[in-house]
Amino acid sequence: MKFIVFLIVFVSGFMAASFSQTARYELRMENPANHYFQVDFYLKDYKSKEIEVKLPVWAPGSYLVREFSKNLNQVRATDENGNPLQLIKKTKNAWIIKREKAKEVKVSYEVYAFELTVRTSFLDLTHGFVSGTGVFMYTEETRNKPGQLKIIPHASFSKISTALPEVGEGVVNDSKAKEYRFENYDVLADSPIEIGNQEEFTFDAAGVKHTVAMYGWGNYDVEKLKVDMAKIVTSTTAIFGENPNKNYTFIIHNVTDGQGGLEHLNSTTLSVNRYTYEGDAYLGFLSLVAHEYFHLWNVKRLRAFELGPFDYDREVYTSLLWVMEGFTSYYDELILLRAGFYDANQYLNKLKSALNYVEGTPGNSVQPVAHASFDAWIKAYRPNENSSNTTISYYSKGGVIGALFDAMIIDKTNGSKCLDHFLQTLYAKYYKKLNRGFTEKEFQDEFSNFLGKDMTSFFNDHIYGTKTPDYATIFNAVGLKVEYDGRKENSIGARIAQSGASLYVKSIRAESGAEKSGLSVGDEIIGCNGMRVNQSDFESLVAQLEEGKHLNLLISRDDVLMEIQLRSSTYERPSYKFSAATDEKNNAKRDYWLRTE
Ligand SMILES: [Zn+2]
Repeated sequence: MKFIVFLIVFVSGFMAASFSQTARYELRMENPANHYFQVDFYLKDYKSKEIEVKLPVWAPGSYLVREFSKNLNQVRATDENGNPLQLIKKTKNAWIIKREKAKEVKVSYEVYAFELTVRTSFLDLTHGFVSGTGVFMYTEETRNKPGQLKIIPHASFSKISTALPEVGEGVVNDSKAKEYRFENYDVLADSPIEIGNQEEFTFDAAGVKHTVAMYGWGNYDVEKLKVDMAKIVTSTTAIFGENPNKNYTFIIHNVTDGQGGLEHLNSTTLSVNRYTYEGDAYLGFLSLVAHEYFHLWNVKRLRAFELGPFDYDREVYTSLLWVMEGFTSYYDELILLRAGFYDANQYLNKLKSALNYVEGTPGNSVQPVAHASFDAWIKAYRPNENSSNTTISYYSKGGVIGALFDAMIIDKTNGSKCLDHFLQTLYAKYYKKLNRGFTEKEFQDEFSNFLGKDMTSFFNDHIYGTKTPDYATIFNAVGLKVEYDGRKENSIGARIAQSGASLYVKSIRAESGAEKSGLSVGDEIIGCNGMRVNQSDFESLVAQLEEGKHLNLLISRDDVLMEIQLRSSTYERPSYKFSAATDEKNNAKRDYWLRTE
């Protein structure tokens, strides 16, 4: 008995000592023109003789191993007196420090940051952008503990925008350096930082203070953005019934080649074309805002089991990206309808385009959407010229499945509940109560329970299989008539594009006339039927090509000239048309589905 008591005291004493390590970082940008961030990582109160420090190989939300440590140089370790400590590289992204007797260890390194995307870091004379996973090292001992980050901006930069809370906020300080705190490494890594002379504005919506940091000139109107973004926030919050944040930050990069967004717990980074703030492009921008905002619930909190806490060392496989990204894609357009930016017809046209994109992609009959999710790391994020023949987007297909789930719930509950309520149920149980993600099986079981119907065959056919869903029956039940509209047509099945004076084959549909004729991706088309051709000449010759006839092509493949007889073949691209259902009994359900707030 005494022994046991003694043991408990001993163990808890030992744990207190071994769990008191802290993490503190300092980030500098001494010469932005050379694109290097300088980082000092301070580690204290270690008892072990060796300390392992690591850098993630990927950024959550972007499912590709990016090998961030390829950008690290000059990694060094010193003790509290500045004496060097031995540092041994263990793996591509891990280093061992021989602590010896050092009380405090400083790991210093520089990060080359010259890739301006939402998931990588960038620094030049105009601004700095920090995506934490590629910049901040961590240790297993400190990753679950709070810490501090000091940022010393370059003298030419006046602002720092991030969702991280400031230490001693409101304290007047002459120095531009600022200190931030974080609850654990996941939060630090999940809080992008914009440093520069960005324009900042704020708006309140859904009880949350939103800060928008604008890098780069764009044709935006701040007052209009405040109103429209607030509508998106309000409509998105209504789906889940509550907003878990007090503050939320949008970092927006206005650039020539906009690339989309990346979601975080209480912030997002959007990369958009600088002229996106007018016309149809503006609706695309608002849809991107809705997409990333919806993610603050779906994927950041309500999530697949594997998606947090993360394994930063390797790929994290999940078959549920069709829910994480697909349902988010379904809602990023539905929110625009609910918030009043689309009318019902505009919305249905968006849904029809998504459905026809899915059904018209040859890979849809090859790759089940669960497999598309699992293989995101090697397929979706590494597309090649053959991808459309063998893969389907878990965004688009998952979005269509989301619409089917919504219709099934609305029909079953006779227009009193929708997909919002199913997501609320999952959010309450898995995020708020259990504080973990759900497994594939749990998701399927929860949906069956919610619908009061065994969904095994639906999942086997359409999630783990490639059977075409019965769109007509499912959508008809919510007042939308969906009819097959595919027609046979003559086609060569190749996409050709002009590059300078030359014409190249960009992609070839599996089993098409082009494939059977021996044409390959990368071939340069020099002439057709004895004449030089440009893209429009070639397209009009193809349009006139009758079945059974051929075109005589002169092509160059790896500089060797070849002649090919190009034939077309009949192809029926699957397609559907939408119209209002004639049966009026379902109109109330349709009105509920396509409601505007
Ligand atoms: Zn997304």
